Amino acid sequence: MASVQPYMYEPESDPESEKDRDGPDPPSQTRLEQAVSEWCTCGNCAVMPTEVENVCCREIRKVVTRMKQVPEPIVCMVDHPGLEPNCLNPYTLQNLHNIYRFDYGPLRRRTEEERFQHLAYRSFVSWCWGFLGRGIRVVIPSCVVRRIRQEFPDLAGQYVGFRPPLD
Ligand SMILES: [Zn+2]
Ligand SMILES: [Zn+2]
Repeated sequence: MASVQPYMYEPESDPESEKDRDGPDPPSQTRLEQAVSEWCTCGNCAVMPTEVENVCCREIRKVVTRMKQVPEPIVCMVDHPGLEPNCLNPYTLQNLHNIYRFDYGPLRRRTEEERFQHLAYRSFVSWCWGFLGRGIRVVIPSCVVRRIRQEFPDLAGQYVGFRPPLD
């Protein structure tokens, strides 16, 4: 079981944005009991293990803002041209690792792929939300979590192609 929990991510930063909590309204009916099509309108979300993670990109204001900042309309955040360079490019994450390590110390993750996943989530959050205060938690949409996991699969021992070392 992977220890990476995207929704637990606490971005760092300026206390000004502490009140700027973002995310969907609490669901009236639990999403774990519903079909994905009941809440996903982008077509790429899937059922996630915990209630709070079952959120579509089109429900999150900060993500929708980014989705509007593209030359051609897109239906889902995974089609955003900024996703690859910000969250999936291993060299971007290699650099991000240096930045975070300098500020917060080394990442303690079991596998290299989990560390890449974690950095990809952090990059996504800083890209969409900016730097937020400690204790603020945001939910990364299901479709984006799936895309990041597809890029950095946590299947032990599976060959995933070349990755630059993080350290
Ligand atoms: Zn969706
Ligand atoms: Zn989506």
